[in-house]
Amino acid sequence: MSTSLTSSSDPDAFCRILASSKSLGILTGAGLSAASGIETYRGVDGQWNHTNPFEVASLRAWNENPDRVWTYSHSRRDACLRASPNAAHDALATLSLLSTRKRLLPSLTDPSKPPLYITQNIDGLCRRAIDSIMKTPEAEEMDADEKKLVHERHIEMHGSMYRVVCTQCKCIKWTEENPLAPIFANDTSTRGDEKIPIDQLPRCGGSSWSGSNRYGRCGGLLRPGVVWFGEVPENQGEIIRHLTKVDVLLVIGTSSLVHPAASYAGTVKKNGGTVAVCNLGPTQIDDHADFVFHGPCEKTIPMLFKRLGQINDAQASA
Ligand SMILES: [Zn+2]
Repeated sequence: MSTSLTSSSDPDAFCRILASSKSLGILTGAGLSAASGIETYRGVDGQWNHTNPFEVASLRAWNENPDRVWTYSHSRRDACLRASPNAAHDALATLSLLSTRKRLLPSLTDPSKPPLYITQNIDGLCRRAIDSIMKTPEAEEMDADEKKLVHERHIEMHGSMYRVVCTQCKCIKWTEENPLAPIFANDTSTRGDEKIPIDQLPRCGGSSWSGSNRYGRCGGLLRPGVVWFGEVPENQGEIIRHLTKVDVLLVIGTSSLVHPAASYAGTVKKNGGTVAVCNLGPTQIDDHADFVFHGPCEKTIPMLFKRLGQINDAQASA
C-alpha cells in the first residue's frame, strides 16, 4: 500500500518530532479496536455494510423504534464487554503515567498533564486500558488530582456504551451491568419482527425497580448514553480549545470521514503543528498528514513508542 507523496513514513523522523512535542494530542477511531475483535463501522467488513446506521443509531430510529435501537445496542455492548484492550490501547494508556511521559515526551510544556486523548469509540477499551495502568505500582505515587486529570484529559466524544441516560428524570449512570434488562438475557435475534414491549426495555432504577419515583430510580425509559447520527458530539468546545495548543496530533485507526473529528487534523495543521496518521489503510487525510504509517495499529503504535524510548534514552545518555 503506498503512502502519499507529500508525507513521510519514517518512524525515526516522526519520533524526533514527538520527542520535541510540547503538547501532544491523540485522536482514535474504530480501527484501534479492530484487533480486540470489535467490528469497525466503515471498513470492508464494517457494520454499516450490513446494518443501516439510521435504523439503529439515530434519534429518528430511537423515536420510532426504541426496541430495535436497544436490541442493537445490547448486542454491541455485550460484544464489547467480552473484548479486551489490545497492544495499541495499552501503549497509549502508558502515557497516563508521569514516568512514561518524562521518558517518551521529555519536551512537554507541562509534563504533569497527560496528552489530550480523544476517542470516537464508544467501546470503553481506551478507558479500560487507562484504568488498568492506574492500578499498577507506578500509578501509586500519583495523587488524587493527578489521577483525576488523567480521566479529564480522556474524552469519549461519542459517549459510551457503559453510560445510560434516563429519558424522564435525566439522570446519567455509568454501569457495566449486563444485560441491562432481563429480556436481553435471552437471544432476542429469534424474536423476528416481534417487538419488545417498552416496559421491558432498560429502565431507570434497574430491573429491580419497585415503584419509587426518586431521581435515578424513577422507572423511566433509559437510552444508551452514546451520540447518535443527528446528535452533536460531546465536549466540542473543550476539544477545540485544547487542540489549539496541540503541536503534534496522532490520528489512529480512523477513516477520518466523520465530522467534526475529521477537521481536527486541519486545526492542528493550521496552527503549524504536525499530523501523523496510523491506520490499516489509506485515509481521507493522508495527503494532508506529515507522517503516514499504514498497518495494524496494535503493531504500529507499540513500535513507534519503543523507537521513541530508544531515541530519547540515547539522547539522555549522550
Ligand atoms: Zn429516571
